[in-house]
Amino acid sequence: MADECIFCGIVNGDIPAKVVYRDDEVVAFEDIKPVAPVHLLVIPTRHVASVRDLTRDDDAMLGKLIETANSLAREHGIHDQGFRLNVNAGPNGGQTVYHLHVHVIGGRFMTWPPG
Ligand code: 5GP
Ligand code: ZN
Repeated sequence: MADECIFCGIVNGDIPAKVVYRDDEVVAFEDIKPVAPVHLLVIPTRHVASVRDLTRDDDAMLGKLIETANSLAREHGIHDQGFRLNVNAGPNGGQTVYHLHVHVIGGRFMTWPPG
C-alpha cells in the first residue's frame, strides 16, 4: 500500500466506496463522479501507480482487470450495447489518481475522439 493513495484506502476499507466486486487481486467500485449511467473503476489490490509501470510480470493481473471489467459490463447490462474501457496514463493522458484503474463506462452512446 502506498501512503496517501485514495484507492489503496478504498482497498483496505479506510475510504468508503460503493464496491461492486472484490477478490484478492482486484476491487471494483462506482466512480464518485460518473460520466455515464454506468461508470465503474476496476483496480488491482496491489498498488501500481500507472499502466506505464507495468511489466511482463503483471500480465496475469492485467488480464484479470480486463476480464473483471468485461464481467461487470455484463452484470450491469451494458455488454450487448457496447461500452468503453479506458485507462488514462500520466498527465497528458488525463490521469488524476495514481493507482492503476480501468474505467468501465457505458449506458449511453460515446463519441470519438475524446477531448
Ligand atoms: P483518472 O482521471 O485518474 O483516469 O480517473 C480517476 C477517477 O477516479 C475519476 O473518474 C474520479 O471521479 C474518480 N475518483 C477520484 N476520487 C475518488 C474517490 O474518492 N472515490 C471514488 N469512488 N472515485 C474517485
Ligand atoms: Zn494505491
